Amino acid sequence: MATRTEVHDVTRLRWARERIEGAASPRQMLDEVVGAVVRNATWRGAECLNLLAPEAPMSPTVRSLLSAEVGQRAAEGHIGPEQRWFAGTRHIDEIESLCVELLKEVFHADYADHRLVASMIGNLTVYSALTKPGDTVMSLTQPMGGHSSNRPDGPAGVRGLRIEDVPMDEKELTVDLERFAEAARRLQPKLVALGASMTLFPFPVREIAEIVRPWGGRVFFDGAHQLGLIAGGQFQDPLAEGASVMTGSAGKTFSGPQSGVIVWNDPALTEPLTTAIFPTLAATHQVNRVAALAAAAAEFLAFGEEYMAQIVRNAQTLGAALQARGITMLAAHKGFTRTHQVIADVRVQGGGLAVARLLESANIIVNKNLLPTDTPSGWDRPGGLRIGTTEATRWGMKEPEMEDIAGLIADVVLGRRAPEAVRKDVIALRSAFPTLQYCYPLAAGAESAL
Ligand SMILES: *Cc1c(COP(=O)(O)O)cnc(C)c1O
Repeated sequence: MATRTEVHDVTRLRWARERIEGAASPRQMLDEVVGAVVRNATWRGAECLNLLAPEAPMSPTVRSLLSAEVGQRAAEGHIGPEQRWFAGTRHIDEIESLCVELLKEVFHADYADHRLVASMIGNLTVYSALTKPGDTVMSLTQPMGGHSSNRPDGPAGVRGLRIEDVPMDEKELTVDLERFAEAARRLQPKLVALGASMTLFPFPVREIAEIVRPWGGRVFFDGAHQLGLIAGGQFQDPLAEGASVMTGSAGKTFSGPQSGVIVWNDPALTEPLTTAIFPTLAATHQVNRVAALAAAAAEFLAFGEEYMAQIVRNAQTLGAALQARGITMLAAHKGFTRTHQVIADVRVQGGGLAVARLLESANIIVNKNLLPTDTPSGWDRPGGLRIGTTEATRWGMKEPEMEDIAGLIADVVLGRRAPEAVRKDVIALRSAFPTLQYCYPLAAGAESAL
């Protein structure tokens, strides 16, 4: 077999190569780049129903800060005039300390760090700081919603950890505590990573923390998806329930710039966690992104509770409406979800990949998703779909629109109407909601900061 030297789709790369070779000048190459960005903004930004669970639209202020002047500045190290390598960071110290204190405020945490350019790196921070190679950790398998960052193929694997499965109840979609207690007492994990990308219900954090305490085990809550729900008081509060540390993605339900957040309460963890961040995993940490993250946290204090409550109500309504229209939904017997997502089982309609592609041709964007009954190796052709309500909610859509969306999805998935016909309705629905909600108008001065 030929060695695969290029991981990306070669047809797509060839398309780009032809554009570059066909360009008369570097200026035309630049125009090609901008053209692709504009095409995406028109299609995904204005004509699609974006129902990807990891996405959220940023507020005008958060988005504008991403191109601020400060994004060109270097500011390695810890906050303060003596702990940085570079001079000139007086106002950067202000931005970063506002971010740290706002994160503490919004997550009711004693400590927070702002320097994670991805939540994935937050997870590597936790594994570097709190484990040694050869230690045992327990985490969820991918078909039960687990994420690669806590599995052998991600940061936990890179750290050389022995990774065991958290036993789950496949029907209730939550931890099987009896089997967990038995396995944990036998394996004595240093950390139990409770993190899920398919996440419908809270975790028994308190019970698990209690079970692993006798041998000094800790709970690490990877709240990548639920971070906004937690900040908005619409999910469990992992730190208050006994988790030692929580990471999360700032760009998922939290609706900030794509990057990571980490919070903890135990002062003994400050030294190991922050030295894992700097100088180990972060150097230039994108201060424009830090400013945007701080602004997102401030807006969360004002709007987070209402925004997140509507997201959950929308997801519950969407789940019920899809089920009523003949699509099999997970956890129908327990109200479908307590988060921003619902999971459809579309095995009889051709599986997640085929159905997601069909929906895409109707401008409805969702992702294929493993089901609890799938095998991890079947990740590229799984049986399910994951559908999220964050973006639709931020455009102002509520329960009636969830019924409409369920109708459009069902029309496509059940083959009742051609995707091209549904697409017209999708564009009309999207354009009826032109204004982002749950945020302030563009802050005065934000534009002059650019
Ligand atoms: C998305 C996700 C991550 C990674 O987050 P990034 O911000 O994309 O790096 C980690 N853990 C879980 C459970 C996730 O869903």
